Amino acid sequence: MAPNPQGPEPPPNSTVIDGKIRAMLFLLSPSSASALISLSKYLSRQTLKNSLPRLLLSTMSINMTTHAFAGNHTRSKTPKANSPFSHNSALQTLKSLLSGQAHEPPAPDFKVLPFRKGRPLAGSSGDSRPNWHLGWLNLGDCKSVLENSEVNLSEESFVYLGSKSEEDVVYWGIDVSEANSLVNELGSRGLCFVELRTLMVATDWADDRAMGELAVAGHARALLEWHNLSRFCGHCGAKTIPKEAGRRKQCSNELCKKRIYPRLDPVVIMLVIDRENDRALLSRQSRFVPRMWSCLAGFIEPGESLEEAVRRETWEETGIEVGEVIYHSSQPWPVGPSSMPCQLMVGFFAYAKSLEVNVDKEELEDAEWHSREDVKKALTLAEYKKAQVTAAAKVDQMCKGVGKGHNLATDFNVESGELASMFVPGPFAIAHHLISAWVNQDDGLNGIAAQVKQLSSSLSNL
Ligand SMILES: [Zn+2]
Repeated sequence: MAPNPQGPEPPPNSTVIDGKIRAMLFLLSPSSASALISLSKYLSRQTLKNSLPRLLLSTMSINMTTHAFAGNHTRSKTPKANSPFSHNSALQTLKSLLSGQAHEPPAPDFKVLPFRKGRPLAGSSGDSRPNWHLGWLNLGDCKSVLENSEVNLSEESFVYLGSKSEEDVVYWGIDVSEANSLVNELGSRGLCFVELRTLMVATDWADDRAMGELAVAGHARALLEWHNLSRFCGHCGAKTIPKEAGRRKQCSNELCKKRIYPRLDPVVIMLVIDRENDRALLSRQSRFVPRMWSCLAGFIEPGESLEEAVRRETWEETGIEVGEVIYHSSQPWPVGPSSMPCQLMVGFFAYAKSLEVNVDKEELEDAEWHSREDVKKALTLAEYKKAQVTAAAKVDQMCKGVGKGHNLATDFNVESGELASMFVPGPFAIAHHLISAWVNQDDGLNGIAAQVKQLSSSLSNL
């Protein structure tokens, strides 16, 4: 089965892939990153900062060093078991606070992110250039809001998300789908529940804070949706109960006690490349928005390696035989179908051994070879930045209670200028980076490498 390779999504309308985006692409490729590090060390040793190539300067100015939904700062350092920030210690404190045996403010501070039907609570600030933010509530506030909505709270309602000891905070998620009256109460505070996919498009990928919030929201959504999907034991059918502050579940049947861990669905996503003719294979699914093309993708089967999955899926969907398979990077994808709370997209370059395309129409609408120039054009004509700003403005309006029922997707049509005959997913998707990395290979990575080589040889001649 072919998963949705990170579409359909609002067509990003943008004109220019600017220096920042270009730069970001290089950072995402491990080999290019190491080339940059070597170059940077080399140059600082030689105190030749004035000679830094312009490309490198623009590369360093971008802050996006991971894919969207990766780089979750609340999960990067797991606290030791005896730390007050660990899930078990935090759960004990939570119990005391909920039972009234302890009073806020506790140490550490507890912040709660409510979700409703898979949507995180969000707010927006800034008038001329709105920026969304997550709608964190402190524990006392969360309790009173939910008590007003007649929701019975227990420690099992909360899922531990992570912590930041340097800020003295523990983060929790909670599903409040049952609490209808809460929408109005939170709405009066300028907070509303927004689709994670909308927040993803609205995220300024050069803004570390926003990218960090998106990663936390993705992690929280994946965990909470998994809790909804794993209410019963698959072995004996008894109810499951949360354990370890919601980090796992366990069957309540004493004779079974099966341990259940969060579900993850790995997917290979590959840009198939025709080296000889300098072309890449892009495909369309019928559910894509018009003119959008992307990479091939497919679920990994049991007993299969990643490389085998790349070759099998490419063969099944397009009849093309793949030889060499090169790993690029991976991306958590918590915005797929709700039956899959979190896919892990594992990205590859796949080099074709045969070139004749024979599309499986059950899986794909079309698949075609595209020249590097055509793909480059598709990237440069797509207005990704404009799509981001428009989506951010829309989230702002939603949080302020304006434009209810408005279809967000209608704002993403390319209305003026040269119309792109095709475009590829935006910078929040690994598909974009696989495609851009290939497009920019010659004048990008190889360009930098060439400059290093040139600089090196000119210095050795001194
Ligand atoms: Zn069981």
